[in-house]
Amino acid sequence: MKRVLVTGGAGFIGSHLCERLLSDGAKVVCADNLITGDLKNIEGFFGQSDFVFLNLDVTNYIHVPGQLDAIFHLASPASPIDYLKLPIQTLKVGSLGTHKVMGLAREKGARVLLASTSETYGDPQVHPQPESYWGHVNPIGPRGVYDEAKRFAEAMVMAYHRHHGVETRIVRIFNTYGPRMRKDDGRVVPNFICQALAGDDLTVYGEGKQTRSFCFVSDLVEGLVRAMQRSDAYPVNIGNDVEKTILEFAEIVIKLIGSDSAICHKPMPVDDPKVRRPDISRARDVLGWEPRVSLEEGLKETIEYFRQLES
Ligand code: UDP
Repeated sequence: MKRVLVTGGAGFIGSHLCERLLSDGAKVVCADNLITGDLKNIEGFFGQSDFVFLNLDVTNYIHVPGQLDAIFHLASPASPIDYLKLPIQTLKVGSLGTHKVMGLAREKGARVLLASTSETYGDPQVHPQPESYWGHVNPIGPRGVYDEAKRFAEAMVMAYHRHHGVETRIVRIFNTYGPRMRKDDGRVVPNFICQALAGDDLTVYGEGKQTRSFCFVSDLVEGLVRAMQRSDAYPVNIGNDVEKTILEFAEIVIKLIGSDSAICHKPMPVDDPKVRRPDISRARDVLGWEPRVSLEEGLKETIEYFRQLES
């Protein structure tokens, strides 16, 4: 990968991916419209001659001068409160944005990796979720704006692959956490850590019996890079397969921080998936990938990040 475009490159995952690609010796073009991304995430790369930032919205025509060998298409609001606040932009970036990215890839002869999501499985009726599962999504519910946009994006990518012969990859990303998550993005990891650091009650939605499986960002980035290099056009799940209930997760955060916070319960959001755990057999077989960072190690690093942000 010589010259690589990362859409959504100023976001949480995008900025870690840019950092990794730069350290691998690639030239990186980072595109972001900064509606949920933040220049602070990438300010450390501005001095490097191999790094270029373009402030652009991929739902409009994308002009990127020069050669491109690969495109990681990550641009999208990605936390439930963001996509509930930005429903039209979320639908547009998954649909129109993915169309523009595929057109650019075709023009440049670049390989494309679409950052898809475990949300394509919706509230799953198959557990854990293998890539062969078609999912259980409510298209007209509030989360449908994200889930259906990503499902449409997958269909668009497959069509460009089949119809135009573009080399494509689809990665279904499961809950990922780490430094540079936004404090106010509403997801469970920043919420619980910031609440525990402040000594506030941790807001568990519903009874907290719903499950998630949390992957540290460096593991995810390694999976994205390997998928770009070694995968085929068929989707591959990247995530950690250690599953916790949200109540267990709250207790882990309280214990690691040594906080005297209590737990309070808030209403369960509409269509919140009851279980989620990736089947990562395909990632193991095709990419030789598996997660390496334990929940405890990853959380300690993330807690340290938020502690410094607060101080
Ligand atoms: N959640 C919670 N308290 C919070 C934020 C989230 O109990 O303050 C729950 C949420 O209902 C969901 C899980 O934690 O079941 C993960 O939510 P998140 O927003 O991180 O991402 P999701 O996996 O739903 O996309």
